[in-house]
Amino acid sequence: MEIIVHRGAEGTGGTCIELVSGKSRLLLDYGAPPGSAPEEAILNIPGLYDDKVSHPILGLILSHTHLDHYGALLARPINPGIKVFLTEIMEDMARINAKMPRKYTPLGNNIHYFRKGHKFILGRFVITPYLMDHTAAESFAFLIESDGKRIIYTGDFRAHGNKAAAFKQFLAANMGPVDALITEGAQAGLEKGPDEREVMDHLEPMVKSQGGAIYFMCAGQDIGLLANLAELARKTRRYLVVDGYTVLVLERLKALALKQGVDLKLPGLETEYLRIIRNAATQRIYQLTEYAETFRRMRSKMFGWDWVNDNLRKLIIPVRANSELWVDEQIKDFGGAAFVYSEWETYAEEPGMRETFEWFKAQKMEAIPLPSTGHAYFSAIRKLVENKKPRYIIPINTKHPEKFLAAFGKRARVLKNGEEFTLD
Ligand SMILES: [Zn+2]
Repeated sequence: MEIIVHRGAEGTGGTCIELVSGKSRLLLDYGAPPGSAPEEAILNIPGLYDDKVSHPILGLILSHTHLDHYGALLARPINPGIKVFLTEIMEDMARINAKMPRKYTPLGNNIHYFRKGHKFILGRFVITPYLMDHTAAESFAFLIESDGKRIIYTGDFRAHGNKAAAFKQFLAANMGPVDALITEGAQAGLEKGPDEREVMDHLEPMVKSQGGAIYFMCAGQDIGLLANLAELARKTRRYLVVDGYTVLVLERLKALALKQGVDLKLPGLETEYLRIIRNAATQRIYQLTEYAETFRRMRSKMFGWDWVNDNLRKLIIPVRANSELWVDEQIKDFGGAAFVYSEWETYAEEPGMRETFEWFKAQKMEAIPLPSTGHAYFSAIRKLVENKKPRYIIPINTKHPEKFLAAFGKRARVLKNGEEFTLD
């Protein structure tokens, strides 16, 4: 089997990996690098946009719907012969995202669902998806078997978030001898850190004593953080103020999970202390007639700017890309307000977050930095390597390849973008 990391081998964002076994080819993820326009994210991989290859790409398998893992797919329709594999929930999240900024290309029709723990076959590959703990609605790792060789691709993961049990199950799964572990290392620079629960508990007294609104950096699809913010709002007797887009994501996610028999503990329209503001994102949902039923149910939770301005000291407001536009226009008073953020957490996963971050940092309000908790600390990567005992460890999506070389010696293979690595 051959491994080619087209993007993500050097530095972070825009992951795309190709596996080749005989005449079979498949792609894992097709992300857009942070801050890049979709058109700039397109990779020139033979067969991806054309038919002029003797061995076509059989499928594109997506690990999760953060734009740095699938955003390039929204730039231009890929060859319709390529099957796109994701889950029903991931498809829904991707379709909502594609409709928000109108410049995106909708997903194609060659969509196929996978389910956690259920093997599927693609040419000479046998693929098993495993649920992982990450901030997206759903995130998966994959075991890919072919030709007597086994490769694990972790996607994005952590061991200390709201789905920590998924990481434990991943460790417990017997996958047999593993030849290569392709692992993300976005937070590999940190050996250890707090878990998300500890971070939230630490914030609670501050949120209680703060005399103004709390603005909280939170990407639109950082579902784990939204759940934590709802809990924080409940405990501090504040309102969680979101827009129609966030509510739509939460409602769709809960409904689809319920269909599979899973009752997700997420905030939603039945959450007493949730309020919806009438900003451009909410207006956009109103225009999308396919979500008319959800929008109708949102109406009783919608409050105007007067209510927001009268109740600022009772609000927790998650802010994401472009939020500064309506905050700047509508909010009258920043007295006692605080801006809570983590240094780079979600900037790779949502374009425009960097600008939002800079704007809030420049305002006259208390800035409260938090540790980033979206990705695995190096101790979790170490644990994974000790558990799966791969012959080779290929770090991707990391600014810290030296950590891998120091910890794993010659077993660590730091590749260049586009370089071919053959498993002997
Ligand atoms: Zn991610």
